[in-house]
Amino acid sequence: MEPTRALFNSCSSQWMRMVVQRWWKRPVIRGFWEYSWPRRLPCMKSAVSHSTLRPNFTYSIRTYCATTQSRLCWSCQAQLSRADLFCPACTTLQPPDESKDFFQVLDCEKSFNVNTRELQRKYRNLQRLLHPDFFSQKSESERNISEKQSTMVNKAYNTLLSPLKRGLYLLSLNGITLKDGADDEVDTQFLFDILELNEQLNDADAKADIEEVGDFVQGQLASLTKDLRKAFQQGDLQEAKILLAKMKYFSNIQDQVKKKIIS
Ligand SMILES: [Zn+2]
Repeated sequence: MEPTRALFNSCSSQWMRMVVQRWWKRPVIRGFWEYSWPRRLPCMKSAVSHSTLRPNFTYSIRTYCATTQSRLCWSCQAQLSRADLFCPACTTLQPPDESKDFFQVLDCEKSFNVNTRELQRKYRNLQRLLHPDFFSQKSESERNISEKQSTMVNKAYNTLLSPLKRGLYLLSLNGITLKDGADDEVDTQFLFDILELNEQLNDADAKADIEEVGDFVQGQLASLTKDLRKAFQQGDLQEAKILLAKMKYFSNIQDQVKKKIIS
């Protein structure tokens, strides 16, 4: 049965119906009910227990709504959808939604196969809306919010752009973290090869020799990225973990190559 009708039918007296109908006209109450319907019983219990402690029942529900999927504008209290960056009523910028993952922040599919061009386009569009420079004439609160929003978008973009960071992030969303060092994930032969490569880089003085190591590492990273894409497509997270551990080693050497070329 449709939730609203179920609520109305459950009211036995005319008086109760009137109370519910009056409540229903309030956007705060209606929003609370619609968004919390699947979990309405614990929600109502929580709100009612708050109301007995605090006389301002609307305040309790409003606070509840602000911390769950249903959000209210911090400035004018209008109801917001999850996708709203700006309040449709007063156009004020809203704080970042902490429940969103980086894929949701940049509005792209939660997959290792992100289209980096599309990612870049969405990132630029968001920064055009959120960059603190565009809020210099706004209130201090809104300037702070734009800083937070912009930082979150930067962090999301930098994580999803790099295959290594994107892979590690996808693993973490699945509750798997890679320890620093990650020696347990790779075989002894691989560790020997990495040691040898490190020695080769340390001994390299000529630019051509350093670049040779750099080219080799880049090739290895490209090949591992290809395998990683396959592992994620097949849902093989254990294989993905091993490949990412190897990528971490090569990525560290790549950083050293870059430093050595600059110095
Ligand atoms: Zn507003």
